[in-house]
Amino acid sequence: MALIVQKYGGTSMGNPERIRNVARRIRHWQSQGNQMIIVVSAMSGETNRLLSLAKEISPNPNARELDVIASTGEQVTIGLLSIALEEQGVKAKSYTGSQVRILTDDAFTKARILSIDDAPIRKDLDDGYVVVVAGFQGVDENGNITTLGRGGSDTTGVALAAALSADECQIYTDVDGVYTTDPRIVPEARRLDRITFEEMLEMASQGSKVLQIRSVEFAGKYRVKLRVLSSFEDETNQGPGTLITFEDDKNMEEPIISGIAFNRDEAKLTVLGVPDRPGIAYQILGPIADANIDVDMIIQNVGHDGTTDFSFTVPRSEYARTISILEDQVKQHIGAREIVGDTHIAKVSAVGVGMRSHPGVASKMFRTLAEEGINLQMISTSEIKIAVVIDEKYLELAVRVLHKAFGLDQA
Ligand code: ASP
Ligand code: MG
Repeated sequence: MALIVQKYGGTSMGNPERIRNVARRIRHWQSQGNQMIIVVSAMSGETNRLLSLAKEISPNPNARELDVIASTGEQVTIGLLSIALEEQGVKAKSYTGSQVRILTDDAFTKARILSIDDAPIRKDLDDGYVVVVAGFQGVDENGNITTLGRGGSDTTGVALAAALSADECQIYTDVDGVYTTDPRIVPEARRLDRITFEEMLEMASQGSKVLQIRSVEFAGKYRVKLRVLSSFEDETNQGPGTLITFEDDKNMEEPIISGIAFNRDEAKLTVLGVPDRPGIAYQILGPIADANIDVDMIIQNVGHDGTTDFSFTVPRSEYARTISILEDQVKQHIGAREIVGDTHIAKVSAVGVGMRSHPGVASKMFRTLAEEGINLQMISTSEIKIAVVIDEKYLELAVRVLHKAFGLDQA
């Protein structure tokens, strides 16, 4: 008997008919002798709807209250799915995050899971229940409702799989796996049978929306066996999806590049004329980190005349807040000349563990983009990724030509 965690996204929970289909799939898995824990998202569009209601009342709503509101979407779907299961003769019990006790820190709207009490779930499983848990939410030590950041139900799923040592965590979504890139941009994009956990982490952090990045971090840390699958296929004829593997259990030849990821959700800021002396990077980025804003790419050039320019990217939604932090705190303290920014940027990344052992990937990428006349504003690399920031209007072109140049169009 295996213990399986299945997570269903918003589209899979989109209406009563789909919820019934999900229930059927769960019944099928349970009838094969598996113990089932199900994590669900809110119905598609619901979290946006809830958050926009708050924004209609205040442009800058209190984060604690946003979590109180946003968490209700999943409270509805756990109830609906449990009813659908009961309708099909399956014993089911729903839990909100706080009822399980998914304990988090108190960083409202982007809380991190600290611990999970697995005892009540284990008891229900042993009593033959399917346990249905609300994704995306938890509770802090003072009993406040928290949420885990957009897309956070994936993380709930993986965290539960880790806490209960599940045999597999299956993420059901509206695509049948992880693709070489977004098929809406490149129709030739292919589903990957497997991708390493490190590649998936890079893909997620470089903008692939298939899995929330924290869920991938969790899976890596606790070695959760993670699979992405489509919830629109018939449960008796389900494709294999994409399995997230660990490099050491792969024995086949790696492709050099596994995927092209992109992100339109960042903005670039440049602090011009900062004094070129020790501690400057910390003085600029410290207040931004304190405000809990994620900084992604960072570039500082060699100085001349005692000053230098310092550029970095932040989520576009944090652009205005970052500018005001820079104006208020940073400019005066460090005596920078000017702060300029650009929200019309996009980031494109080539990701692949094979680049570790194959030189020339960066030059191929740069040549391919140069041939299209695309200017590179920023470049950053890791062992298995090369990312560039370009003008947003060239994004789709860049993704297409790179996908082709790295041979991802061919099976
Ligand atoms: N409902 C939440 C969101 O839309 C969490 C999730 O779907 O994973 O972000
Ligand atoms: Mg999602």
